[in-house]
Amino acid sequence: MAVQNNGSSESFIKIPEIKFTKLFINGNFVDSISGKTFETIDPRTGEVIARVAEGDKDDVNLAVKAARDAFDNGPWPRLPGCERRRIMMKYADLVDEHAEELAALDTIDAGKLFSWGRTMEVPRAAELLRYYAGAADKIHGETLKCQESFKHTRCSEPIGVVGHITPWNFPATIFFMKVSPALAAGCTMVVKPAEQTPLSALYFAHLAKQAGIPDGVLNIITGFGATAGAAISSHMDIDKVSFTGSTEVGRLIMQAAATSNLKSVSLELGGKSPLIIFDDADVDKAADLALLGGEICVAGSRVFVQEGIYDDLVKKLLEKAKAWVVGDPFDPTVDKVQFDKILSYIEHGKREGATLLTGGKPCGEKGYYIEPTIFTDVTDNMLIARDEIFGPVMSLMKFKTIEEAIKRGNDTRYGLAAGIMTNNLNVANTVSRSIRAGVIWINCYFAFDRDCPYGGYKMSGFGRDMGMDALDKYLQVKSVVTPIYNSPW
Ligand code: NAD
Repeated sequence: MAVQNNGSSESFIKIPEIKFTKLFINGNFVDSISGKTFETIDPRTGEVIARVAEGDKDDVNLAVKAARDAFDNGPWPRLPGCERRRIMMKYADLVDEHAEELAALDTIDAGKLFSWGRTMEVPRAAELLRYYAGAADKIHGETLKCQESFKHTRCSEPIGVVGHITPWNFPATIFFMKVSPALAAGCTMVVKPAEQTPLSALYFAHLAKQAGIPDGVLNIITGFGATAGAAISSHMDIDKVSFTGSTEVGRLIMQAAATSNLKSVSLELGGKSPLIIFDDADVDKAADLALLGGEICVAGSRVFVQEGIYDDLVKKLLEKAKAWVVGDPFDPTVDKVQFDKILSYIEHGKREGATLLTGGKPCGEKGYYIEPTIFTDVTDNMLIARDEIFGPVMSLMKFKTIEEAIKRGNDTRYGLAAGIMTNNLNVANTVSRSIRAGVIWINCYFAFDRDCPYGGYKMSGFGRDMGMDALDKYLQVKSVVTPIYNSPW
């Protein structure tokens, strides 16, 4: 591995050799049938890292055939749960052993901070594997005494062949959020990582094989959404699609499922989450949490501030945002398309009459970096307050009463997350119960835990990742009914 300084304070990373660029089907790395490849780009510099196999419908068909055969005839769904657990534990150890290389891959491919990947994202991905490995031998049924003369057994069975379609912003975490519970359940699968970030997924496939996951259980098709992704969501032989990405694409996936084989669908989609800061909150902490936004689906991009603390908070935010620009490293936008989209929202905000408090411009000569941007004087109906921008753009809004905060916080088509900052327990309880979102953080933000189910209300999707709820997504319930003759009970 070569050593490179990306220009930030944390930043000597070893540039990894790119070892895997082909599709992974039935345990082998193979070229796409068409022979086509596409470029994957380093968003920090705009330079090409590698060319990766471009899978499409024909390759998806091959991968599904392998996954189907592995499900219908192979050992994985039939192994005792403790055996699946043992292999998944080994897989997790291998991910840990290669954490440095994996984190470096996501740094160059997704623009993730290397130290974050090395110390947080990759180790947490390995822990996700261990968490669900621990569940693999605890998937039980239940015996129900429903009517006098019948015994009902409720069985949990793997749902079958799963298609996972993932976005680019957390390549390692989202890969294992989906793959780990599906493996534990005994499913086989085809994963299509985002076209912007295909590299770590291919490396994960290589480690799966080393761990002893049988051929055909985990297949990776790199390629584009409109071709490879659409072939997965419309495939007649896939039993479930688990998708994380934008609301627009989520809608297409549901349509494709409806018009093909009515496969089960779960969707983790976009958000426009409110962060509601009450007068009694700590200004310094509130400013830190508010600035955590960016290309993160749960970003608190609508910041509602009670009038008594508003001026102090604006001052503090300005101070911190300015310090951030000149000092610490922060994530670039993943590609030119997203970069241009964020800048056009910023222009829109100015045209709509919001006041640009700070930021608003690209920064640096190279790569797709945008300054942390804060708008004040934002009204609820402005586009910057309604649309998911998926970039470092915050809309600040003032409110008076708790009722107003709840009403305006809920005035969105999304329902992914929300934050509340207050020391008043009654206020925290009332607001957390009144906001229609899947995750509510009180006096914290972005506090994720693998035990804690995560997913959206409204147009942020349905179904939950993480926790035991995610395992349920990959299980099918079967009732087996047996007559009992001459039962004394
Ligand atoms: P995207 O929807 O553009 O792409 C996501 C995936 O879908 C990619 O793999 C893409 O190739 C594929 N895809 C695109 N068109 C498709 C089609 N027609 N059929 C099937 N698959 C298709 O999203 P993105 O730009 O990669 O990620 C950003 C979005 O993801 C944001 O909206 C963000 O909020 C959301 N997101 C949500 C969560 C969550 O947990 N709710 C987490 C991360 C990202």
